[in-house]
Amino acid sequence: MSLEKCDLAIVGSGLTGMSAALAAYGRNPDQIIKIFGIPFDSNTAKKGEIENIPGVKKVVGVDYIQQIITQIENLNAEFAKEDEPNKIEFINEDVTSIAKNVTHFQLITDSRNIEAKAVIISSGLPELKHTIRGEDKFVHKGVSHCAVCDGALFRGRKVAIIGEGNFVARGALFLRKYCRNVTVICPNPTLDADNRFLKKLSKSQNVSFKYSIDLETVEIFGSQIVEGLRFQKDGENRELTINAVFVELKDKPDLTFLKDISLDITENGYIIKNAKNATNVEGIFTAGSISGEMEYIPILMGDGYKAGISVTDYLKK
Ligand SMILES: Cc1cc2nc3c(=O)[nH]c(=O)nc-3n(C[C@H](O)[C@H](O)[C@H](O)COP(=O)(O)OP(=O)(O)OC[C@H]3O[C@@H](n4cnc5c(N)ncnc54)[C@H](O)[C@@H]3O)c2cc1C
Repeated sequence: MSLEKCDLAIVGSGLTGMSAALAAYGRNPDQIIKIFGIPFDSNTAKKGEIENIPGVKKVVGVDYIQQIITQIENLNAEFAKEDEPNKIEFINEDVTSIAKNVTHFQLITDSRNIEAKAVIISSGLPELKHTIRGEDKFVHKGVSHCAVCDGALFRGRKVAIIGEGNFVARGALFLRKYCRNVTVICPNPTLDADNRFLKKLSKSQNVSFKYSIDLETVEIFGSQIVEGLRFQKDGENRELTINAVFVELKDKPDLTFLKDISLDITENGYIIKNAKNATNVEGIFTAGSISGEMEYIPILMGDGYKAGISVTDYLKK
C-alpha cells in the first residue's frame, strides 16, 4: 500500500460529508480533500423523496446525491491545473481505522493508506439489524431493511414495517401506494414523527398501527418465505398474515474504526463536539447524525458546512 497525503480527510460521503467538502473547498480551494465512503449508500440516497429542503422541489434522494457529486466534479474540473490531481477526491471505500501521530492522522481502508492533517467524521448512523427473531433467516425472502428500495416488489401484498420516527412514517407512506395493507409495528406509544406525515397516514385506509410493542416478543415466521408475524400486545399473543416485513430500526453510532482515538462521546454513543464542530481530539471535527444532530437534511447539511469551514480555519492556523 503506497502512502498518500491530503490536508483534509472526510469520513462519510452522505449529505453531511459532501456539504463539508464543498464548504472546505470554497474556503480554501488549494487544499487536498479526500472523502471516504459510498455516497449512494447514504441514508439520503436510499430513502426516496425529499420535500423539506427550502426552495428545492420534491427531489428523489438518489438524484439529489448525484447532483451534489456532479457539483463537486464540476468544481474539480473548473479549477484543475494540468498534471495536478483533483482537489476533492472520492474514495469509495470505508475507513477501517484512524490513528493519531505527532503531526498527522493515518487513515486505513482496504486498499489505501492515507495521511491527513485534519479529519471530519460524518459517517452517519447504521441500520440496526439482527434484532427481530426470524429477521436473519428471511433476508431476501420477505425481510428487507429499506421500504423505499424494495416496497414496490410487494405490490398488492400485505406487509408490516417495524420501527419509529420520520423514516418509518415515510416508509409507510411509500408502502401504502403499492401494498394492499400496511401494519406499522411501533415499539413506543407514539410514532414520534412529523405531523405532516401523521396527517397523511391517518387518512390512509390501508395503514394500521400497533403501538407499544415489545420488540423482543416479535417473531417473523414462515417455511421458505415470510408468511406472518407474531407479537404480544397487552400481554396477549397476536398473529398477522403478511408477505413482507420491513425492519427499519436505527442503531447507535458505529465507532469501531475510531477505537485508537480517545474521542469523548455521550452516554448514547454520539460524538461530542463544540459550537465549531471540533471534538476533544485536536484536528478531529465531526458533523451530522453521528454527532447527535436532529435527523433533518437541511440541519445536517448546515452542520456539515459549518464543520468544513471550521476545519479549514483550523488548518490555516
Ligand atoms: C426512510 C428515511 C426517510 C428520510 N426522509 C427524510 C426527509 O424527507 N427529509 C429529511 O430532512 N430527512 C430525512 N431523513 C433523514 C436523513 O436522510 C438522514 O438523517 C441523513 O441522511 C443523515 O445524514 P448523515 O450524513 O449524517 O448520514 P448518512 O446519510 O447515513 O451518510 C453517512 C455516510 O457515511 C458512510 N460511512 C459509514 N461508515 C463509514 C466508514 N467507516 N468509512 C467511510 N464511510 C462510512 C455511509 O456509507 C454513508 O454513505 C430520512 C431518513 C430515512 C431513513
